[in-house]
Amino acid sequence: MFKYKTAWCPNKKDSHDSKSCIYAHHTRDFRRPPEIFRYQPEDCDTLVKGVGWDKCEKGIMCNKCHTTVERLYHPDKYKRIYCDRQRCNKSEICAFYHNTKERGQAIKECKNYKRNINSRHAVITANDLNTLNQQVKAFYVAHQKEEQKELL
Ligand SMILES: [Zn+2]
Ligand SMILES: [Zn+2]
Ligand SMILES: [Zn+2]
Repeated sequence: MFKYKTAWCPNKKDSHDSKSCIYAHHTRDFRRPPEIFRYQPEDCDTLVKGVGWDKCEKGIMCNKCHTTVERLYHPDKYKRIYCDRQRCNKSEICAFYHNTKERGQAIKECKNYKRNINSRHAVITANDLNTLNQQVKAFYVAHQKEEQKELL
């Protein structure tokens, strides 16, 4: 679950249900991998204004969320709120909890995960970041064109 939407989908966009797919398909549902990026579970101004995170001057290094996926699946937020959707499949893909046992389990997992990434953050090199930065940028440019077409 901590990998959810952190990699681009290898499948063709129209060939499957992108909502239940664990990969990202738009810049709006991409999530920066929390084990590499540190960000608080708060919305960046670009998300509040809905202008797209390429407009954020801090770019991918921003310490706030650039998509709602980043906020909902943040290790501090994941499965902390009760799910009120009637037609939920209640799987781990849902960011909300469905019973207290599930909630407790998620909190435990998030705690362990955070302990692990804290030690990993220390060894992330500038090289890793550079590669990721380029991947994200390349993806952004390619998909921006597509998204503009969809909006027309
Ligand atoms: Zn997909
Ligand atoms: Zn930002
Ligand atoms: Zn649910």
